[in-house]
Amino acid sequence: MLFQDLNLIEPILKALKTEGYTTPTPIQQQSIPIILQRKDLLGCAQTGTGKTAAFSIPILQILHEERTQHKEPKAIKALILTPTRELAIQIGESIAAYGRHTGLKHLVIFGGVSQNPQVDALRRGVDILVATPGRLLDLMNQRYVHLDHVKLLVLDEADRMLDMGFVHDVKKIIAKVPSKRQTLFFSATMPKEIQTLADTILNKPEKVEV
Ligand code: AMP
Repeated sequence: MLFQDLNLIEPILKALKTEGYTTPTPIQQQSIPIILQRKDLLGCAQTGTGKTAAFSIPILQILHEERTQHKEPKAIKALILTPTRELAIQIGESIAAYGRHTGLKHLVIFGGVSQNPQVDALRRGVDILVATPGRLLDLMNQRYVHLDHVKLLVLDEADRMLDMGFVHDVKKIIAKVPSKRQTLFFSATMPKEIQTLADTILNKPEKVEV
């Protein structure tokens, strides 16, 4: 199978070509069609399997298509939650690479650094926000972030977010995302706690395991 067989739009295929990607990995082959069908997804996958592209590519495609079809509000439309600064930065770099021809704006926010540049960037307008839970909740409480137009929510490395004690933050954040949304939930392991969290957040998910 090739990326051309996945019904992807030209701006994304062109970017993947620049990246030197030809063949989607198993998680990408399975997840991309499900996400493009606008279904919820429960993915059991480790880092290194290509899971970042598995959710970033279809999110970019959905938002690009919606933008060309109708005028969208200048607001955050996709929110990606991830446990660490390193992962957040990596996801941001992937989105920048795959989305280079889409015109969509993304921002990465995390704690341990000044919030001012992040606040300035939020004010300029962001389509896709990649965030660690603590800093996001902080900026939400200060009313710098509004999630009422989010239609795509990703939980990346959910098991690590729980291990790092982010469960309350994550729940508070999700409570502010509209319930009419598409949710993608990724975890390397699926212990009972994670399964329970997934059950409360997802709506009839398709399951993918690699
Ligand atoms: P991830 O599991 O998302 O952290 O990705 C692992 C690495 O694989 C990253 O460096 C990606 O750039 C790379 N990668 C992801 N998908 C593909 C693909 N289909 N072809 C080649 N490299 C890929």
